[in-house]
Amino acid sequence: MSERIDLLVRGGTVITPAGAVRADIAAAAGRIVRIAAGIGDEASEVIDASGLHVIAGIIDSHVHFNEPGRTEWEGIETGSGALAAGGGTAFFDMPLNSLPPVTDLASLQLKRAAAERASRTDFGLWGGLVPGNAHQLEPMRDGGAVGFKAFMCNSGVDEFPSADARTLRAGMTRAAALGMIVAVHAEDEALARVRAAEQRSKGSDVRTWLRSRPVELELLAIRTATDIAGETGCALHIVHVSSPEGVAAALEARRRGVDVSIETCPHYLLLGEEDVVRLGAPAKCFPPLRSESQRLGLWRELESGSVDTVGSDHSPAPPAMKRSEDFFAIWGGVSGCQHCFELLITEALARRPAEVALAHLSALLSGNVARRFRIDKSKGRLAEGLDADLTILDLRGERRVSNEELLYRHRQGPYDGRTSRARVVRTVVRGRTAFAQGRVAPGPACGHFIRPS
Ligand SMILES: [Zn+2]
Repeated sequence: MSERIDLLVRGGTVITPAGAVRADIAAAAGRIVRIAAGIGDEASEVIDASGLHVIAGIIDSHVHFNEPGRTEWEGIETGSGALAAGGGTAFFDMPLNSLPPVTDLASLQLKRAAAERASRTDFGLWGGLVPGNAHQLEPMRDGGAVGFKAFMCNSGVDEFPSADARTLRAGMTRAAALGMIVAVHAEDEALARVRAAEQRSKGSDVRTWLRSRPVELELLAIRTATDIAGETGCALHIVHVSSPEGVAAALEARRRGVDVSIETCPHYLLLGEEDVVRLGAPAKCFPPLRSESQRLGLWRELESGSVDTVGSDHSPAPPAMKRSEDFFAIWGGVSGCQHCFELLITEALARRPAEVALAHLSALLSGNVARRFRIDKSKGRLAEGLDADLTILDLRGERRVSNEELLYRHRQGPYDGRTSRARVVRTVVRGRTAFAQGRVAPGPACGHFIRPS
């Protein structure tokens, strides 16, 4: 072969869009140059993947790494390192919880610079849609934003106010003209206030809090958002849909012609409301974890192909904010990006044959994300010409995951002690190892900024 090969991954079971193949993967200058059996061994670096599975690098389209401004909550270096340990090769950071929030071009550029200094993986950035900033969407698009995120309820931080119908309509009208996607956190603020007031008078414990965030909040918000998306012709992405009823509401809009995609998170597939009761704060999130029958219903929607993407919604906070006698006052957010993908694969493997489960998860975690956010010319599949982003998995053993392994700034998470049948043994970002043998690769940060084509 004439081309010089930098990296050769030999003998793995490679999950490609065309199916699973036993093959070698050759990479040069950060790209996949060949996928075939028996490429040879002329390469600067050779990785033996026999007995292992190789999937396209996981693109986590939903994280909050909180830098700049709240790096003490997580930070890009620790967050992206933990993500790489969990198999992630890229992330899209949400516009809020960092300070300043990303609601204009200057704040987008500030975060881009911070991530270029610190990130272990590639990254894209969400812009924010808040009251009064529709005129900022175009500069943020030109600055490379992957889309614009709005909250339909209280976001938890004062500097990122929720978007009422008027704000959504103005933002979606603008985004549609710009050819951009709007993402919504779908819980209805007005109804949330009513339910919170009703329950608050009864107590402040975990079960009372769970009753204050019923699924009707999600359904009402999905109806509002899909109606406005339909009126304005805007592409809509509903983040962290928590219930099969929510999926059904979005599908109903899709049948009416609304361009809507559906994201869920591993915690809605792996945990339920009894885990919130058992674990407390580490399992508190918005929308809340649901009943066992809803969890299983969400799996059915996922396996039937109704769900488009799965993102971690990694949303940490300092331990002091995860402690209170009043469950309503505890920060809502699950820290999950390091363990959630291995555990999601574990659960999927228990339900379907390995190669069927992996091919589908690879679409949900990478291919569909890349297509929806228009980065599929370089990412999302194992194919010649694309970035050499690889998640290499060992499915042969079993282990108990532990919060002791966590590389987050704060070792908190809801998965301590769970059994995993999937282990990320290596994560490769554009041909370069970002994580292997239980350690984030030493050396300078190497994350590239990804922008939609
Ligand atoms: Zn989030």
